[in-house]
Amino acid sequence: MSRERLYLFDTTLRDGAQTNGVDFTLADKLAIARMLDDLGIDYVEAGYPGANPIDTAFFAERRPLRGRLTAFGMTRRPGRSASNDPGLAALLEAAADAICFVAKSWDYHVRVALETTEEENLASIRDSVRAAKARGREVLLDCEHFFDGYKTKPAFALACAKAAYDEGARWVVLCDTNGGTLPHEIERIVAEVCTAIPGDHVGIHAHNDTEQAVANSFAAVRAGARQIQGTLNGLGERCGNANLVSIIPTLKLKRDYSDQFEIGVSDAALSRLVRVSHGLDELLNRAADRHAPYVGESAFATKAGIHASAIVKEPATYEHVAPELVGNKRKLLVSDQAGRSNVLAELDRIGLAVDKDDPRIARLLDEVKEREAVGYAYEAADASFDLLARRLLGQVPHYFDVEEFDVNVEHRVNAKGERVTVSQAVVKLKVGDEKLISVAEGIGPVNALDLALRKDLGKYQSFITGLELTDYRVRILNAGTQAVTRVLIESADETGDRWTTVGVSANIIDASFQALMDSIVYKLVKSGAPA
Ligand SMILES: [Zn+2]
Repeated sequence: MSRERLYLFDTTLRDGAQTNGVDFTLADKLAIARMLDDLGIDYVEAGYPGANPIDTAFFAERRPLRGRLTAFGMTRRPGRSASNDPGLAALLEAAADAICFVAKSWDYHVRVALETTEEENLASIRDSVRAAKARGREVLLDCEHFFDGYKTKPAFALACAKAAYDEGARWVVLCDTNGGTLPHEIERIVAEVCTAIPGDHVGIHAHNDTEQAVANSFAAVRAGARQIQGTLNGLGERCGNANLVSIIPTLKLKRDYSDQFEIGVSDAALSRLVRVSHGLDELLNRAADRHAPYVGESAFATKAGIHASAIVKEPATYEHVAPELVGNKRKLLVSDQAGRSNVLAELDRIGLAVDKDDPRIARLLDEVKEREAVGYAYEAADASFDLLARRLLGQVPHYFDVEEFDVNVEHRVNAKGERVTVSQAVVKLKVGDEKLISVAEGIGPVNALDLALRKDLGKYQSFITGLELTDYRVRILNAGTQAVTRVLIESADETGDRWTTVGVSANIIDASFQALMDSIVYKLVKSGAPA
């Protein structure tokens, strides 16, 4: 039986950017767009060109994606012509494959917020769709407040949607902007809309204000809609948007949907879902939701007892899907069995061949547990785990010793009379019989330490020339007097490889030092530097 194509539209970078406390840099946006593209998302909505400098910069040049890069913006303003609206012009200029317009579809908003007539609102939709099509863009229309509008004046709400469709918009997206509509209402209204506009041109954009954005998205699909809009981890203002990280596995793993629909996310991409979800949290410097469906650390965790022993015998007894399908792991709390198999799986992943009965596995497991208990996060720091395992297996040469380091931060008035803060680091190293001293100034203490550490590694210097620090994240754990600092450092090298290392200490410089050291040693191991 041939399956129908269902399209996924991600708005993490636009609606998700409205989340309280979330501020994407251009580099963040590019990294997330790549993550979404690797996942197989059909439309990546990356922002609102013309509305802020970062989004304008994002769309200033072609960003090669497999999926359709989409720019968001308003239809032409009432009372203006399409050719005389700077906002619309910026949108049409954007280097994007598709344009997603947002327009009012609730008569109340047209009157009160836009202060215009219903006819002018419809004309604005038609003119904007036409202008974007003339520029060769695929066009989508987000009908804002569609469901509230439909409940008060169905003919007008539908006329807005129909105006865009008749003008050639590929998709008309019904938005539950206030997020208060319930699944049975969504299902009824979408079914009615689909009698006027074919369902394979209808999308759903749900907000989570009654904790039903995911359910509302599925209700719309059941009623005929064939595009789902959402965000990674359900990011979005107030209570968030429909969570694509929950929607994707349901579409792929639940027969009612997987038998009927096909999506752009491959099985291989699905198995990386946990990484995508946690990768976004790391980028936002947020703790991952342990209880998130499918991808949370507890999503497949079972406490010891009858459940756990049943799971060991037959996992299907207590699991609705197999955790590895989404890249998660079965976790049996209070049992070494699961930790052991996790460690074995991880060793296998990094390509370290160890016999499963090797007694060193138990030692590695103890070490990981002890360190994680004090704040290390090996799931996020692949390179540090790799080194920890290799050290236990005696596979890391003793390259060098840091005998001493000293970091100094000075706040003073410079020759021009300006107040400046200067950081300087001195590192004393021993490489073989050679003693080396490096001094470096940096933007901050960690930068100075990094520069000094990498300035002169003696005979190993040539192995680390391509090493660069690409991201630095700090989190304070157990707030209060017991606070410790966890530092995650992402590094990259000339081959394009990226890796993350971790350091934990009560002192931020010391935590950073550990992570920096791991990064350098990892690079040496990776480059095959001789002992
Ligand atoms: Zn929204």
